Amino acid sequence: MRIDIITVLPEMIEGFCHESILARAQKKGLAEIHLHNLRDYSTDKWRRVDDYPYGGFAGMVMQCEPIDRCIAALKAEREYDEVIFTSPDGERFDQHVANDLSLKGNLIFLCGHYKGIDQRVRDHLITREISIGDYVLTGGELAAAVMADAIVRLVPGVIGDEQSAFSDCFQDDMLAAPIYTRPADYKGWRVPDILLSGNEAKIKAWEMDQALERTRRLRPDLLGE
Ligand code: SAH
Repeated sequence: MRIDIITVLPEMIEGFCHESILARAQKKGLAEIHLHNLRDYSTDKWRRVDDYPYGGFAGMVMQCEPIDRCIAALKAEREYDEVIFTSPDGERFDQHVANDLSLKGNLIFLCGHYKGIDQRVRDHLITREISIGDYVLTGGELAAAVMADAIVRLVPGVIGDEQSAFSDCFQDDMLAAPIYTRPADYKGWRVPDILLSGNEAKIKAWEMDQALERTRRLRPDLLGE
């Protein structure tokens, strides 16, 4: 899979995109993340990409032309499944959206800045608008980085033990069961006996019970309760 991120601040997420899970995915040839500086597509001699809003409102607005030129340059190279605008008023990003996007081939993320982007970009170039939560960030870079991480880790082969992505929170709309590692007894804090029993069927049932109990207690909304 390939993710192209269009931003006025590539340095802000450069490190993130080349570390950790995203670095591993790229090294294994399972994903590619490309950052594009929107200013490279400006025709202004000062490389400006924003201007004052019509109507005399406060703040600056990102202009159509550099965004259009950048997206057109990318689309001339390959087809994209979605052109996503990171936006606080978009659909809410969650594990379902991450699963869905992880099955796609090529994605563009456009990061807004300042007051936002010219509405005509949203009307004509954007296929999907996604928010990472009900709060306002200064720019879409962190949102794009969060989504890229959540999506790429779902691509088969990216995380070592594939099963572990499936037992994470929110897969099947459930929270994950608690986990433990050695030693079995630390200062009298004991690992549940069942996990030391070696009885696989019973352990599976315990894990399911725990996951259900936690979901009921902490996130009953996931179970529609
Ligand atoms: N005036 C806009 C907010 C602009 S914030 C409004 O009221 O909706 C600047 C940019 O940050 C946005 O264009 C968007 O790309 C990004 N952004 C801010 N909050 C976000 C969120 N919760 N999820 C995704 N992107 C967000």
